[in-house]
Amino acid sequence: MRALILATVLVLAGCASAPPLAADRPSPPIASLTDGVWMKGDLHIHSRHSKDSSNNPEAKIIALGEKVGMDYLLISDHDNHVNGDVAHNTWSDPEFRSDKLLLLYGAEWTTARGHGTAISAVPYDHQRLYDVRDDRDVKIGAVKKALGIHLSANHPANNTNNFTFSYDIVDSVEVWNSAVWPANAGAIKVWDGLLKSGRKLTGRGGSDSHHGYPDTPAQATALSYQARENNVGTPTTWVFATARTRQAVVEALTNGRVSVSANPYAPRVEFQASLKADGHMDMMMGDNTAATGKPVQFRIQLSGQTPPDAVYKVKVVKDGATFATLSMTGVKPVVDFTDAPPAGARSYYRVEVEGPSTPYPEVPGSTALSGNMVALSNPIYFNFDPNF
Ligand SMILES: [Zn+2]
Ligand SMILES: [Zn+2]
Repeated sequence: MRALILATVLVLAGCASAPPLAADRPSPPIASLTDGVWMKGDLHIHSRHSKDSSNNPEAKIIALGEKVGMDYLLISDHDNHVNGDVAHNTWSDPEFRSDKLLLLYGAEWTTARGHGTAISAVPYDHQRLYDVRDDRDVKIGAVKKALGIHLSANHPANNTNNFTFSYDIVDSVEVWNSAVWPANAGAIKVWDGLLKSGRKLTGRGGSDSHHGYPDTPAQATALSYQARENNVGTPTTWVFATARTRQAVVEALTNGRVSVSANPYAPRVEFQASLKADGHMDMMMGDNTAATGKPVQFRIQLSGQTPPDAVYKVKVVKDGATFATLSMTGVKPVVDFTDAPPAGARSYYRVEVEGPSTPYPEVPGSTALSGNMVALSNPIYFNFDPNF
């Protein structure tokens, strides 16, 4: 028995020291590209339960989300403002309800070492995560795992609240925080660095909005102007969920079938790949497979509101560097490119799309801040180790 245990330990140790490539191992099957539904939402919003918000009761946030067609929302109040007790604040608020969109459970984990968003399909004991915020990362990771939640690093390269925990404890990264797209350059660099390390970490958006429109002029605060510049859905995170449920939204976030668009009306980017380069698409963003070294055909497509004369610029990023700059136009803009991901190494491809901004009448000042940025995809992965 003892020898058997020792042998098992040796085998495990052998696996752990193997090169982090999956080319010689079976890849997990790729899920259907069509059995599911694209759902849009915002994962980072502060209501009145965050002390740095103003004029933003939950009902106002949810009403705006419903009006602009959101499918899900996460009201992510600072947990330190209620000493970890979001269950008796954000979630127990009588306004925490909607017949039209799915409300996720979570909070902004607000610590001295940076911020994260806890995301869950069901209520969980957030107090436990709050209580370990100053512990070793390995202990925090164990608590997160025990709670069964998705944890996401917020504004990782922010000047004051950059994320200084191990990225081994998170499932995604906020790569597009607020309507101010240019401020995310550092976050994008962090993300590419993490992807190059072999981590398959989803990039997501979050408005980080704090301020609602005052109901009367007397209620206006010094920051009320932000309501018209940065509010629900600036940016909007799209997920390809296998069903219209909270659980499916969280699973899609974890598996990376996710893109981010400038606002709820902006076009959504699709990014797919044909492994035989025959026009039949086999993979979408978030998917990972073994590379054969043969050419793969990639397709970028926009769906939604695209003016017929608009020209969109597509930046293809391969392994953290610009691989190609393409353009697409027309009513349903689409463009392909081909490359041969190497058989013996990890590689990933992701895209950023620039073009005309889409008006967001409910938050009219947001388009000036997001500028030409339209949407970004998550990566398509080759040879990433599923057990990294
Ligand atoms: Zn924060
Ligand atoms: Zn925040």
